[in-house]
Amino acid sequence: MPEETPVLAAEDVTKHFDTGRQTVRALENVTLRLYRGRIAALVGESGSGKTTLARLLAQFYPVTSGEIRLRGEVVSGPDKDFYGEVQLVFQDPFASLNSLRKVEHNVRRALKLHGHAADDAAVHELLAKVNLTPAADFARKLPHELSGGQRQRVAIARALAVRPSVLLGDEPISMLDVSIRLDVLNLLARLREEEGLALLYITHDIASARYLSDDIYVMYAGQMVEGGPAESVIQEPKHPYTRLLLDSSPDPERAGGSSAFTATAKLGEPPSLVDPPPGCRFHPRCPFAKEQCKTSFPPRTEFADGSWTNCWLHNES
Ligand code: SF4
Repeated sequence: MPEETPVLAAEDVTKHFDTGRQTVRALENVTLRLYRGRIAALVGESGSGKTTLARLLAQFYPVTSGEIRLRGEVVSGPDKDFYGEVQLVFQDPFASLNSLRKVEHNVRRALKLHGHAADDAAVHELLAKVNLTPAADFARKLPHELSGGQRQRVAIARALAVRPSVLLGDEPISMLDVSIRLDVLNLLARLREEEGLALLYITHDIASARYLSDDIYVMYAGQMVEGGPAESVIQEPKHPYTRLLLDSSPDPERAGGSSAFTATAKLGEPPSLVDPPPGCRFHPRCPFAKEQCKTSFPPRTEFADGSWTNCWLHNES
């Protein structure tokens, strides 16, 4: 990953939610860095902590420990300047738009809030940027008159209205029809090129992560377990959980294909985060688990291809 200062980063972040009766240990010592003009994918099953991390990056709630940094500076709380730099695109575009107001109102409001020209030309330019043309026609529609893919494009246009440096996409295609998912992924890739955005793409689908991203981070039950350049992670996964994800998502272009690992890895769900397994949280499902795995989380091991993992299989000690 680049040497430059990340645009937005979570550094050694832990997040526990105290509900009064119990504590949910949602994230433990997680680091993720986003760079200008690069797309990082954050991959993992439901309940792995992906959305929690996105919401911490977006300052929706404070960290328990660790830091969120914007251009190297610790962020102490959300304000208008922060949201002028960082925007979140949600999974459900319908819920994220004002359904009673026309598309033009949804986009214009974001322009106005951040002090940008908010005339028809500015609104139409944004709609054209996300391929909603003729823009004047789309501007006059209500959200329910659009398809799911068109609504997600409006949500992206509204996020772009503030001229952000960072776009956080929380499963932005998972509620869309399969036939239009690729269109939205291609739109995100184009915006990364044209706007120089730092983009976080959150998904449970490692195949789409490979298609879109430069870097991949893999999370399991609130712990970051592997990361690095996308091709390294896909072609030579180091962590057993990454291998399980890949084996569950067959890809003819991947060397080796499905492995015998699939037959031995234990199926199941991520553990409860109220009482997660100690040590490596993957150990109840891991066919390679040893005693050490049950008591201590492994340190990071780095590899020549730029990837890294936290797994005792790769740590001599
Ligand atoms: Fe499996 Fe141990 Fe590696 Fe965790 S640390 S993935 S349990 S081998």
